[in-house]
Amino acid sequence: MQLIDGKFVSAQIQEEIALEVDALKASGKRVPHLAAVLVGNDGASETYVASKVKSCEKVGFSSSLLRFDANISEAALLKVVQDLNENPEIDGFIVQLPLPKHIDANKILLAIDPDKDVDGFHPANVGKMVLNLPCFIPATPYGILLLIERYKIETAGKHCVVIGRSNIVGFPMTILMGRNTYPGNCTVTMTHSKTKDLQAEALRADILIAALGRPEFVTANMVKQGAVVIDVGITRVVDTTKKSGFALKGDVKFDEVLPKCSYITPVPGGVGLMTVTALLKNTLQAYYNRMGTTEKLFFEF
Ligand code: NAP
Repeated sequence: MQLIDGKFVSAQIQEEIALEVDALKASGKRVPHLAAVLVGNDGASETYVASKVKSCEKVGFSSSLLRFDANISEAALLKVVQDLNENPEIDGFIVQLPLPKHIDANKILLAIDPDKDVDGFHPANVGKMVLNLPCFIPATPYGILLLIERYKIETAGKHCVVIGRSNIVGFPMTILMGRNTYPGNCTVTMTHSKTKDLQAEALRADILIAALGRPEFVTANMVKQGAVVIDVGITRVVDTTKKSGFALKGDVKFDEVLPKCSYITPVPGGVGLMTVTALLKNTLQAYYNRMGTTEKLFFEF
């Protein structure tokens, strides 16, 4: 069994990005610029956005954090998006979800220029992803592809079972693992809350990707001997032994599943750290696209 070390891979890729930024600076070019829009003061969103901004600084990108009160109108937020679309200094931007209830998140996401949509949520990018065309892949699935690639895990001809079908993780993951490329070329089964006999489906997986948000849902009796297990779940559970009062749990019962796997991602220290790194890669790609350079291509693995 080999542990897939998201902390190590994430640091390695961020170091590679930092070297590219150093080279840009040395040749007198401007650096990539990511903007993040944060509405309201949801604790988790604050943490995610802070980590994105911090990572930008670490690799040498410029970053802007645009904060707005929770009662900003939909029209005003659409104007913010429009301004970012038109701002030549910004290469890519994200609007942190969830948004307050009075704002239609789809309307906001649709207003983002697909060329600056580094979260990869715009239908133009989703459509291109389905057609295996150059696009921005949503950060968490992209981070998983990067882990598979860095560990040189064989995917062609394997049976991949994805648990969960959300727009940000499960659905793109099923598309990506079935595409005619590497990582990909799997036979893919998408499962969800209405799936009958999930255990039987999971047991068929050579590669099992759990993204359902139910702590320790995947137990040893759901995993085939030698399977690759990717745990996307992150749930805070009460843990009085921790200073913070909580522990982060994945969707996989790690200790129990570990002996059966060929590879497994831990939580924390697995997929989670890769999400921000993948966002940085998308931003660098957006920068190169806007600079009209052919130095970088999408999906350069
Ligand atoms: P989500 O939008 O709540 O979607 C959960 C999916 O799991 C749904 O498709 C749901 O099915 C399915 N599901 C729920 N219970 C199930 C069950 N008992 N059996 C089978 N399928 C079930 O969640 P998400 O946004 O995809 O996130 C999933 C997990 O990943 C969460 O723990 C989240 O915190 C974590 N996450 C981590 C990262 C990261 O950076 N590592 C990024 C994003 C999310 P239905 O469609 O039928 O409802």
